[in-house]
Amino acid sequence: MLADNLKQVQQSIQNACDQVGRSYSEVTLVAVTKTEDVPTTQAMIALGQFHLAENRSDKFLTKKQAINNPMVVWHYIGNLQRRKVKDIINEVDYFHALDSLKLADEIQKRAQKVVKCFVEVNVSGEESKHGFTLEETKDFILSLHAHDKIEVVGLMTMAPFDSTVSEQHAIFNKLKQMQCEIEHMALEYAPCHELSMGMSNDFPIAVLEGATYVRVGTALFK
Ligand SMILES: *Cc1c(COP(=O)(O)O)cnc(C)c1O
Repeated sequence: MLADNLKQVQQSIQNACDQVGRSYSEVTLVAVTKTEDVPTTQAMIALGQFHLAENRSDKFLTKKQAINNPMVVWHYIGNLQRRKVKDIINEVDYFHALDSLKLADEIQKRAQKVVKCFVEVNVSGEESKHGFTLEETKDFILSLHAHDKIEVVGLMTMAPFDSTVSEQHAIFNKLKQMQCEIEHMALEYAPCHELSMGMSNDFPIAVLEGATYVRVGTALFK
């Protein structure tokens, strides 16, 4: 049942917040609807879950149009091909996968308004994953100063699927450190207050380590 799943996920976020003295209101649950059809997505919205995430450009556009609800906040969490930027970038509220300067250039060219972006960081160094290394992240963000269509709201990462709990803590903690360093640079175009980290199998750990956006699919739609 969706309602039970949603309650359980919310309760897990609450428990993690309680453990480290954070407020639930600091964490936004983003429901990853990428494998769900429109009726199931609508059922989740009806439960008051308005932050939704998709990762395929065509599916996202079709679903957004079908749902046509101004209350929904749309997050794009997938790798975005440069040739798709023009179709997608003005339709999303948050883009979680800024992973190259060339993509930033294309966003700059195509965006009609400032786009809230998360810079994707490959903290674990997994070869299959997109994103900058921790070492590259600061220079990349500094290089965006003339991209006035990009606001770096935060950093995003994924822990490897087979990582242990202690590895997950370490990965999320490193991203938190980097987020703090960038935030302290006080760049107007990169406030970098946010951390998008945590999926179904590790979101409570991500919340313990400071996540402000958790992206949860399977645990909500199982
Ligand atoms: C699919 C996906 C998620 C959600 O994964 P679950 O394990 O189903 O919770 C989160 N983030 C990204 C980038 C994804 O592609």
